[in-house]
Amino acid sequence: MPGFCLVSEELARAGAGMIHNGHFQLMEMLLEYATPAQRERFLAPLSQGTAIGAMAITETDVGSSFRGMQTRLEEAGGGWRLNGAKVFINDAAEADLLGVLARSPGGFALVILERETPGFGITGRLDPIGLRSSPIHNIAFQDCPIGSDRILGPPDKGLAVFLSAFNFSRLGNASAALGIAETAFAKALAYCRQRRVGDHLVADFQGLRWKLADMSTRLAAARLLRDHAARATQTRGKSGLLSSQAKLLCVETAQAVVGEALQLTGRYGCLRDSLFDLYLRDVKALAIAGGTLEVMKNNIAREVIGF
Ligand SMILES: Cc1cc2nc3c(=O)[nH]c(=O)nc-3n(C[C@H](O)[C@H](O)[C@H](O)COP(=O)(O)OP(=O)(O)OC[C@H]3O[C@@H](n4cnc5c(N)ncnc54)[C@H](O)[C@@H]3O)c2cc1C
Repeated sequence: MPGFCLVSEELARAGAGMIHNGHFQLMEMLLEYATPAQRERFLAPLSQGTAIGAMAITETDVGSSFRGMQTRLEEAGGGWRLNGAKVFINDAAEADLLGVLARSPGGFALVILERETPGFGITGRLDPIGLRSSPIHNIAFQDCPIGSDRILGPPDKGLAVFLSAFNFSRLGNASAALGIAETAFAKALAYCRQRRVGDHLVADFQGLRWKLADMSTRLAAARLLRDHAARATQTRGKSGLLSSQAKLLCVETAQAVVGEALQLTGRYGCLRDSLFDLYLRDVKALAIAGGTLEVMKNNIAREVIGF
């Protein structure tokens, strides 16, 4: 777990769209729930990098709440059929395997859908503001035949399967935000150290020195909480409170640090070449993708208050 966080953070220093969170989320669920045959068939190629994975949860009327989910897995002639549509799915067109959350008799099912499955199709490509190096597509399922060996865990316990990897996914997004903020901070620091304004370096102005001090302190605090949450997830298995707190703090810190870093770099930060616009857009996308900051606050409040 801490290793996954460090990799996500390092990748995000170069481009947060490259973290491919859905791929690792699917692997994490397989590690927890796959039968030996499913491990062999799905986990092996995903972990070797010969297959790409994605996660398909969101629908037109489903985002922060799953209540209105329309995608359905129904029994049909000794097997199952999948019908419905998902939107906003990272890497859906590139993926060999998609983890699809669907309603099922008695609950939800987590289906592992192979790209070649008849009835599966891409219905549109979206044009997001952030994380653009990980393309986003809408997809549909029309009477897709699903064998029982393509269902992860019990067919009515898909929500538990999905939630088992949610701490993991949140910490990947938290780490990506941290990586972006660290890059923005490093650029601002380098600029302040060498940029002359009249007789002074930018780094001579006390107000700006304090800004840099605040930014580095916020980054250190966010990184420590992320590390603590990562270790707790690894050792205790359950860390919903800490992973939600880590995502909230890392993304809020990143939003503040990127904004301040751009300000410190003056006109240079206003050029697209400086990449500050990329950082702003990617951090904003991370504040929404994989659970919004408001949803993180709801999770934290529920844990702290007890209901
Ligand atoms: C860049 C990007 C990539 C994505 N990739 C994927 C992907 O690969 N797979 C996938 O399945 N989905 C993906 N999504 C979808 C993402 O998970 C959802 O956008 C997210 O869960 C929020 O849902 P929503 O957009 O429908 O917002 P809504 O649920 O419509 O929320 C709208 C606003 O209301 C707030 N809100 C909602 N409920 C509450 C509440 N109870 N209390 C307080 N405030 C609330 C939200 O925080 C938000 O500000 C992606 C989204 C983005 C932006």
